[in-house]
Amino acid sequence: MTAKRDYYEILGVNRNASGSEIKAAYRKQALKYHPDRNPGDKASEESFKEAAEAYEVLHDPQKRNIYDQYGHQGIEGTGFSGFGGFDDIFSSFGDIFEDFFGFRTTGFRTKVQRGADLRYNLNLSFMEAAFGTDTGINIEKMEVCSTCNGNACKPGTQPENCRRCNGTGQISRSQGFFTVRTTCPTCRGQGQSIPHPCSHCNGTGQVMVSKKVSVKIPAGVDSGSRLRLTGEGEAGLYGGPPGDLYVFISVEPHEFFERSNTDIICRIPISFIQAALGDKIKVPTLNNEKKLEIPKGTQPGDILRFSGLGIPSLRNGRRGDQIMQIIINTPTNLSKKQEEFLKEFAKLESSKLSTKLKNMFKGANTTAFG
Ligand SMILES: [Zn+2]
Ligand SMILES: [Zn+2]
Repeated sequence: MTAKRDYYEILGVNRNASGSEIKAAYRKQALKYHPDRNPGDKASEESFKEAAEAYEVLHDPQKRNIYDQYGHQGIEGTGFSGFGGFDDIFSSFGDIFEDFFGFRTTGFRTKVQRGADLRYNLNLSFMEAAFGTDTGINIEKMEVCSTCNGNACKPGTQPENCRRCNGTGQISRSQGFFTVRTTCPTCRGQGQSIPHPCSHCNGTGQVMVSKKVSVKIPAGVDSGSRLRLTGEGEAGLYGGPPGDLYVFISVEPHEFFERSNTDIICRIPISFIQAALGDKIKVPTLNNEKKLEIPKGTQPGDILRFSGLGIPSLRNGRRGDQIMQIIINTPTNLSKKQEEFLKEFAKLESSKLSTKLKNMFKGANTTAFG
């Protein structure tokens, strides 16, 4: 982004210019660069906005004072500046235009409007969310009519000023001593009538289209993630910019893995023999599968971990871990022979109480147990 131009320079006035000099200078610029006089000219549009912003600051003694002392930074710091776009300019400058011209021309009054934002709910599989994907979504939205380029007129024809209000969009009525101005009912404030409407859009300037929008899903999104596709919302009105498309993500659960930020968590069931003697088993991972070494004497609930086999972080791409909680299964359908072995084994155990359980009895007041 280029540095901001000096506001005085933009309006072509010196730093001691009076309020009326500033106003006159701005009027000149506004007339020169007004979008009605320069339809479709981006550079003029920028100059028009730039002049409006300069005027917004310099015509207000308080803002001008801050600008004189601290420059653009001072103005930004106070929250005075920040044009959202044309819309803002017209809403804050409508009165000034009226001052300048004595009336509002159609272009000034038909406020440019930003198009509406759209929302699309996108379901992703666990794996798509983990590793990202390129997908296409079909949306229905209002777009500028390509036949009339949005001006609602049959090609080769022009809008005409509304006869009832002479193109001002307002009519005056006398009420006692007062004159009241109200929105013209014929053109509903548009100031224009369309004698030959465009047949493609029925004179609305917009058409509903079905559009396939490609969306790049970054690796690591989760339920609740929101992607913004700038300018993919509905078309603006009267040359306003389009809205944005928001894609709201929800991720389907996985049969085996749960997610905790960038870590994935799963339970690994093993037998008590594997827990006691140790073992090497294959377990699934997001990528494929991997050998897991069960250490000798593993306890229920012990946590084993594969570093870097979790989900990539949206911020830096670094992957979390695969965290495995060990579940130990107690056998239920023992054969006669297995049961005998276990009984033999039990005889070899020095005590039926574990050390931990013995300590629990020591700590409590357990005279009943002796
Ligand atoms: Zn059209
Ligand atoms: Zn009218």
